[in-house]
Amino acid sequence: MTKGNINVSVENIFPLIKKFLYSDHEIFLRELISNATDATLKLKHLTSIGETSTSYGNPMIEVKIDKENKTLTITDQGIGMTGEEVEKYINQVAFSGAEEFLEKYKDSAKDSGIIGHFGLGFYSAFMVADKVEIISKSYQEGSKAVHWICDGSPEYTLEETDVKTDRGTQIILHIAEDSTEFLEEHRIRELLLKYNKFMPVPIKFGTKTHTLPLPEGAPEGTQPETEEVDNIINNPTPAWTIAPSELTSDDYTKFYHELYPMQFEEPLFNIHLNVDYPFNLTGILYFPKLSNSLNIEKDKIQLYQNQVFVTDEVKGIVPDFLMLLRGVIDSPDIPLNVSRSYLQADGAVKKISSYITKKVADKMVSLINENRDDYNKKWNDIKVVIEYGMISEEKFYEKSDKFALYPTTDGQFYLWSELENKTKAMQTDKDGNWVVLYASNVDEQYAYIEAAKSKGYEVLLLDSPIVPHLIQKLEGSKEKIQFARVDADHLNNLIKKDEPVIAKLNDTEKETLKKDIETAVSDAKFTVQLEDLASEDAPLVITQPEFMRRMKDMQATGGGGMFGMGNFPEMYNLVVNANSEFASELLKSDDNNAKKEKIQYALDLAKLSQNLLKGKELTDFIQKSYRHLNQ
Ligand code: ADP
Repeated sequence: MTKGNINVSVENIFPLIKKFLYSDHEIFLRELISNATDATLKLKHLTSIGETSTSYGNPMIEVKIDKENKTLTITDQGIGMTGEEVEKYINQVAFSGAEEFLEKYKDSAKDSGIIGHFGLGFYSAFMVADKVEIISKSYQEGSKAVHWICDGSPEYTLEETDVKTDRGTQIILHIAEDSTEFLEEHRIRELLLKYNKFMPVPIKFGTKTHTLPLPEGAPEGTQPETEEVDNIINNPTPAWTIAPSELTSDDYTKFYHELYPMQFEEPLFNIHLNVDYPFNLTGILYFPKLSNSLNIEKDKIQLYQNQVFVTDEVKGIVPDFLMLLRGVIDSPDIPLNVSRSYLQADGAVKKISSYITKKVADKMVSLINENRDDYNKKWNDIKVVIEYGMISEEKFYEKSDKFALYPTTDGQFYLWSELENKTKAMQTDKDGNWVVLYASNVDEQYAYIEAAKSKGYEVLLLDSPIVPHLIQKLEGSKEKIQFARVDADHLNNLIKKDEPVIAKLNDTEKETLKKDIETAVSDAKFTVQLEDLASEDAPLVITQPEFMRRMKDMQATGGGGMFGMGNFPEMYNLVVNANSEFASELLKSDDNNAKKEKIQYALDLAKLSQNLLKGKELTDFIQKSYRHLNQ
């Protein structure tokens, strides 16, 4: 038997390990299973290149709880270790690795979510155990099994043993008093499912009862026989590790539900990621149904490293707009034991992020080209992601003319070029600006939409919360275009044409009319604006200037940084049709009270059609209307 001192300068490193990784104790299991998996895959490699005469067989990793003896044991059938290797890898290398890690990161460990995740390896066992044993037998011919014991002090013992005759390594953790949760079956199962669900070597945890089929011709009522079989926790070949050409769309859907067992809705479509240069990355992203909500739910994109779950905090790796997607990303090239700010500046990570963005754009192009009808139908469910991508990722925006749709209030879905063909000629004003009309709510802006349509204009329906930002972006990057919500002004002003206007009233009459109306309305919210419109057009219309409203909307969705100083006031224009019968009748009347009442009533009607008449005002209006009925 060898006794020795672990090569370490700190008097006792284990209290340190416990302290720094306090919140993340549970990762010890993932670390030990990763080691067991590596040892198994190393053996696989050696057998495949003919380096050894031992056969690979069907190795698995077993996790076992012994409540009575308070141990948790992880057994693998991998390459194992000789006594010398234990000396080298466990006593010297691994320990100095742990020490170095703590030295390097103890200050930054706190502010990084990922940091506790990697780098400690084998010694993380001491976060939950006060004594650890290794019993290992190397695959090498003639090697003897060895037994290593360490109780958390720098002293250990190492001796040969006969207890193990088969190849592989057994790690026995004597679980500490403060960590007995790791002797609970449900807790270990939970951890295995969280971190090891897709690891490449089968992991056995307990047994389960399997019902055998009834023998043929068995009499009715025969009880089927059962047998105990290994309970394998993981799926060693998850969909993202399989070539896309070998997967059906059913396989993708099945895998989605495997990833998110509590998610009952089907994903809309998926994007299989697969790149090996200049970095390695595989994965599958899914577009879930999102409708208009910007809420990020708890089922997030999961990050793996060689099939080991790392985190579902993928900010910085996945571009922001794709955080609304679901799925997995697996890459050995993402540095994990670094802080977040470093992650965001890392060159490889930036490349990964722009690769993903490009893949999503390409997928959109192929989807729209493959089946336009289907794409149109899915648009409302994916638009938030796409629109968000357009305003936040320049590269994505540059390609978006090929796949971004602009729906109309009539249920048409146009690409930008189609919209241009349809509307540019009709909707270009006298200064050569192409005015794109839009509504945000078909019911609330009904009257305005109808008025525009009756002139032969098309009205888009743009209703996601980030639309004001998107419009701003489009106007800024395309030549001579301008978006205007249908209720931003009277149509004649929204798209000014060089048409002669006929005015029924002279300037003095207009002045009188304007004064009368201003006196009757007496509300600073409204600016009275006289217009010579067609006589059959509505006498009073309330409009909300595009610029003010858009800034207000942007402020509401948190984008108007420079306007964060205060709230925008509600401002409206009250457009009075000077050519209407209403206007001429008002001028004729000299009963001031009657005039005032008429104007107020017309204002109520205008408010009503802009959905602005509410509460007491609405109730008063209804009562007034009933009184009129009875007159
Ligand atoms: P890392 O895995 O990052 O190298 P660890 O501290 O986890 O660091 O392990 C140190 C070394 O001990 C490994 O590189 C490996 O050589 C050896 N080792 C650990 N666990 C096993 C195992 N189950 N089977 C064989 N070798 C192992």
